[in-house]
Amino acid sequence: VHCEVTAASVGLPDQRQLMLNLRDISERMRSEQLKNDFVSTVSHELRTPLTSIYGALRLANSGVLHDQPEQARSLLQAAEENSQRLTALINDLLDIDKLEAGKLELSLQPIDLDQHLQDARRMLASTADEAEVHLQLPAPGGQRIMADPQRFQQVLANLLSNAIKFSPPGARVEIETQACEQQVRLTITDHGDGIPLAFQPNVFQRFAQADATATRQRGGTGLGLAITRSLVRAMHGAIGFSSTPGQGSRFWVSLPRVLPANTQDPRPAAPD
Ligand code: ADP
Repeated sequence: VHCEVTAASVGLPDQRQLMLNLRDISERMRSEQLKNDFVSTVSHELRTPLTSIYGALRLANSGVLHDQPEQARSLLQAAEENSQRLTALINDLLDIDKLEAGKLELSLQPIDLDQHLQDARRMLASTADEAEVHLQLPAPGGQRIMADPQRFQQVLANLLSNAIKFSPPGARVEIETQACEQQVRLTITDHGDGIPLAFQPNVFQRFAQADATATRQRGGTGLGLAITRSLVRAMHGAIGFSSTPGQGSRFWVSLPRVLPANTQDPRPAAPD
């Protein structure tokens, strides 16, 4: 009887097992660290808009702005915008939860790409104006893709708002589309900060931000790209990026293309 005695068979971890255990431990520590960072990021992100809403409502309620309707209105408008920010953050947290549990329901259907790009530009017009960034759309290409319309809008909004957020005033953000045989590839190019090389491997990780300090200049929770990648994958697509620090970033998304009816499989349908 062949009976080889190995470290594992006598209950000792062999070197590989040891390496795996160590990797497991360091991964767990990393994820613990990410969670801690997340709690402080989310607390900050929740507290900032809440403080502003509270301040605005308190002032409006106190009656001191009775004879200053303009000021009262702009305070209430700021409170409204901050409520929207809070809602967006909470929706992101719920999405992450559903995506992790595999419970996000999608309604995949053929959608018009040109129309969706225009809608996204309209939705982000005021953010782009405020940042003095010019969003440049491609010439209409008449392409259709298979996607969930709302979730595709969310993907566009996440990528475009990042491109705007990390661009200097006066910069352009270019959107391009390219139809391949089975896929349509969408590219969003900015000429902003770029992504530090050391951070690039973490870009799609939950809660990860190149600058996660409380004093950072740009808001956000580090959830946008994690959600975006999960959504794109759930719609049978792929996503990637390239970035040169100090020069800008380019994110691409490819999604299944819906071929025009007359170029679809010409074989007759099988009889019932
Ligand atoms: P958030 O924008 O809420 O921080 P994201 O998941 O969308 O979270 O992005 C994670 C991080 O990736 C950002 O905090 C930023 O450091 C980096 N990043 C994403 N997009 C860009 C971009 N277009 N230019 C520079 N950095 C980016």
